[in-house]
Amino acid sequence: MSPPNPPFTTEIRPYGKAAIAEAARLIGEGLPVAMPTETVYGLAADATNGEAVARIYEAKGRPSFNPLIVHVQSLAQAKDYGVFSEAAEAAAGHYWPGPLTIVVERRADSPIAELVTAGLPTIALRCPKHPAMQDLLQATGTPLAAPSANASGTISATSADHVMKTLEGRIPLIVDGGRTEQGLESTIVRFTGDTVTLLRPGPINFEEIVRLSSLPANFSSGKIEAPGQLQSHYAPSKPLRLNVEAPEAGEWMIGFGPVPGHETLSNKGDLVEAAARLFEALHRAEASNRDAIAVAPIPQTGIGAAINDRLKRAAAPR
Ligand code: AMP
Ligand code: MG
Repeated sequence: MSPPNPPFTTEIRPYGKAAIAEAARLIGEGLPVAMPTETVYGLAADATNGEAVARIYEAKGRPSFNPLIVHVQSLAQAKDYGVFSEAAEAAAGHYWPGPLTIVVERRADSPIAELVTAGLPTIALRCPKHPAMQDLLQATGTPLAAPSANASGTISATSADHVMKTLEGRIPLIVDGGRTEQGLESTIVRFTGDTVTLLRPGPINFEEIVRLSSLPANFSSGKIEAPGQLQSHYAPSKPLRLNVEAPEAGEWMIGFGPVPGHETLSNKGDLVEAAARLFEALHRAEASNRDAIAVAPIPQTGIGAAINDRLKRAAAPR
């Protein structure tokens, strides 16, 4: 059974048992819910459900896919999804729960949907301090992907009213926890190799993290992972052709709607399903025995714009 589609009647419920139970029910249905955190309001969905994650993009109207932060209950849970070095573990131990996001190598056996990490080999993890987010994580038992709860191109929301302003009708529920404490997005650091890299400054001071880790600090190479700058990050190693109705010899065909292929993003022509399958399909195409990849036309409507943006980057000459 598929969940209901937008437009929704967006409810605001004050944080409490009833609101969390309703939020958990909606998350279980594969829908995104706006939640207070100690930084800004987040738009949370089940990180193990690709279609639920696609609905985050749909609700935000984001014209491109960039990787999302996965919220977890504990370091123990985080270790199910990412590979923690000693230094990464020390940082988590010191700052969690709190406004620090830690990027580490993604575990090969991770159940996190490919759309969450936008095809990257790394994963961004955070254990939030806000009791509402903690309660929801516990009630659902699933990791939650959550970018800021605002429409694409608008500023992050620090109150339920702010969320309402840009997401009304696009999501079913906002859990109202009042004004957020920090109003500033989490600090993001990456622990890979033997360095610690600042990817985004935030409430937790980077120099302090560096001191604690006793690793060499890297201030510069974080740039590439800023939103919108991920062009080169996920590109398949094979040439990719777009808007293809029929493949040529030697091409692995990815279909959509009425256009068939070796596999399809969605035979019903459902864009949310297509977004959920996109990165897995590209990985399979890359691993296939064909030398090139062809993709059927994808409509430019709704989340289709983000799919086409990603495909265009993958097809661009390098
Ligand atoms: P936000 O917009 O607050 O959800 O933060 C998302 C940002 O976290 C991205 O733009 C990246 O800078 C960073 N990030 C998230 N996931 C990853 C990942 N898998 N690898 C590297 N950086 C990531
Ligand atoms: Mg944002």
